[in-house]
Amino acid sequence: MESALTARDRVGVQDFVLLENYNSEAAFIENLRRRFKENLVYTYIGSVLVSVNPYKELEIYSKQQMERYRGVSFYEISPHIYAVSDNTYRAMRTERKDQCILISGESGAGKTEASKKILLYYAVTCPTNDCMAALGDRLLQSNPVLEAFGNAKTLRNDNSSRFGKYMDVQFDFRGVPVGGHILNYLLEKSRVVHQNHGERNFHIFYQLLDGGDEDLLKTLGLERNPQNYHYLVKGNCPRVSSISDKNNWKVVMKALCVIGFSEEEKLLNIIAGVLHLGNTQFGEGEEGETYITTETQITNLAKLLGVDGSALTEALTHKKLTAKGEEMISPLNFEQAMSARDALAKAVYGRTFSWLVEKINQSLAVKVQTSIILKASSVIGLLDIYGFEVLQHNSFEQFCINYCNEKLQQLFIELTLRSEQEEYETEGIAWETVQYFDNKIICDLIEEKHKGIISILDEECLRPGETCDVSFLEKLEDTLGGHPHFVTHKLANGKTRRVMSREEFRLLHYAGEVNYNVNGFLDKNNDLLNRNLKEVMCQSDNQILSHCFRREEVMDQKRPEMAATQFKNSLMKLMEILMSKEPSYVRCIKPNDAKQPGRFDEVLVRHQVKYLGLMENLRVRRAGFAYRRRFEAFLQRWYKPLCPETWPNWHGRLVDGVSTLVNHLGYKPEEFKLGRSKIFIRFPKTLFNTEDALEE
Ligand code: ATP
Ligand code: MG
Repeated sequence: MESALTARDRVGVQDFVLLENYNSEAAFIENLRRRFKENLVYTYIGSVLVSVNPYKELEIYSKQQMERYRGVSFYEISPHIYAVSDNTYRAMRTERKDQCILISGESGAGKTEASKKILLYYAVTCPTNDCMAALGDRLLQSNPVLEAFGNAKTLRNDNSSRFGKYMDVQFDFRGVPVGGHILNYLLEKSRVVHQNHGERNFHIFYQLLDGGDEDLLKTLGLERNPQNYHYLVKGNCPRVSSISDKNNWKVVMKALCVIGFSEEEKLLNIIAGVLHLGNTQFGEGEEGETYITTETQITNLAKLLGVDGSALTEALTHKKLTAKGEEMISPLNFEQAMSARDALAKAVYGRTFSWLVEKINQSLAVKVQTSIILKASSVIGLLDIYGFEVLQHNSFEQFCINYCNEKLQQLFIELTLRSEQEEYETEGIAWETVQYFDNKIICDLIEEKHKGIISILDEECLRPGETCDVSFLEKLEDTLGGHPHFVTHKLANGKTRRVMSREEFRLLHYAGEVNYNVNGFLDKNNDLLNRNLKEVMCQSDNQILSHCFRREEVMDQKRPEMAATQFKNSLMKLMEILMSKEPSYVRCIKPNDAKQPGRFDEVLVRHQVKYLGLMENLRVRRAGFAYRRRFEAFLQRWYKPLCPETWPNWHGRLVDGVSTLVNHLGYKPEEFKLGRSKIFIRFPKTLFNTEDALEE
């Protein structure tokens, strides 16, 4: 018989809390590596699931596997995304409390795949009734639609989600899924008009060109070759070997059908409209005036967007201003016209995406039946959101994404410590303070009213006169210089920090340092669309567009919230939603940059272990008791044969049985505590010695 020690040597421990050297990052990574080599891609830190992307299909997601995990407790079976799904579902049913599963990790780590596996688990294993059978389908089919419009090929992931997503699955009192609701966050709109080398625009454009039939393309005035469209050539990457745009087009059209979608034509007009908009070119007249050189294009474009051609032409080349109560029209120069065009493309696409989410939500909404009133009773929320991002060049988007991760870390600390504390209280064990780094100071640095980075950015966007990205940086220095988590090239003694550029500020995030380049911060935060373009769009006879561009918005003189503030507010709401739920965590790790199976790049993994805060996570978990187990499990499973008094059966109170057993085993008082229903063991070594004794 293989000894327990050898097995541990080969496949590592399935829960990191059992690592003897829990402060060692090297030991942590070695454990991950061993397991990865054995195709064991899941490992726990207590109840947190760490998942390493295998980049190959493993035989562990079948229906039979789902059955294995149904109703089985966490520690009795190997770690799996199904174990998290099942435990969450059971906790919702038995405790009648809303749950959420928070999935994080960097691009390509497997977040979206994990969330799809969870959804599939519920669709397959939860009870249904006839009228609800279709809901499971609609829930699952919402994915291909959202991915077509919100995902793109990037250098890091061929199917990268370019938006954050939170989805509620609603269950009735019998545990039947009865509805769903999606919230979307910060779509990367800039991709519509620009892609980096080797990247693509959103999938839907290529799907339409490759999969749409001849008649459809003709009606939309499109040619099949993506190279003909300015908005599709920037990345010089029209095809991706792992993706069949043609097949995916069919999948998406079918999915729209399952969702019960009837506005297909209007939607495709908009998608084609964006492509035509990208091909709209400008020329410069002798007096510096800008005109459109692609007039036939404009006719087609106006038709697709359902707007008046000459009004659109005027709005793409002129700007309407109100000065002293009077309206004035001023011509745009060449550069301004190009950016007005791109701003329109981004606004049209971004708003259409939000409209699509709204439509899907209508289809997933809990339907009130006439015979039985099905009321949603509890909810499981799934959060699939961008992880910490540190690129070569970090801009406004990374700033928002990393801010979001700071907030999630806050939530994690609060909820983990809270649940630890609650468990100690229910078990009647004295609470011991856990030392950890509280990142509230960084959240405040970013979001505090008047003094935080977002407030300063907004102020700089609104300040009349000459403002620019650099004046924003100077404001930051004036207000925040000296803050322990904020650094620029200026040193306190008036000298210059040479390693930093004059256009950068550095934030010392909980997970590490990130330098942000301020170029483009003001524009991206402003996210402005000229008023006359809005006016044209709200008169569109394409109902999707007239829904997206409201007349009230044009009439309203008040400036809408700026991008970072909007994001901040949506995050606040998200935090409230998550706070009201019982969380579970899935932390995803990407093993290599080549998207290949079998390769485990230690440097890359170490980086992620750091940025996901996993060592901190383990430390918090280990600060109290590494291991806890219910009395009956502790007695029953293995250990009772080790003591003559508890073998073969213990007939007294469970707590006395456990007490007798650990006394016999020679546990020292500081090594364990007995709660009301569980034994808490401080060091894993204690447990290993016990396990090894069992093997002898
Ligand atoms: P992004 O932040 O860019 O959206 P992500 O974390 O959502 O990234 P996924 O799209 O889920 O990453 O995964 C990237 C790719 O990795 C998938 O397209 C798939 O090929 C592979 N992959 C992820 N998880 C698994 C898995 N459990 N089994 C097999 N392959 C996987
Ligand atoms: Mg994703």
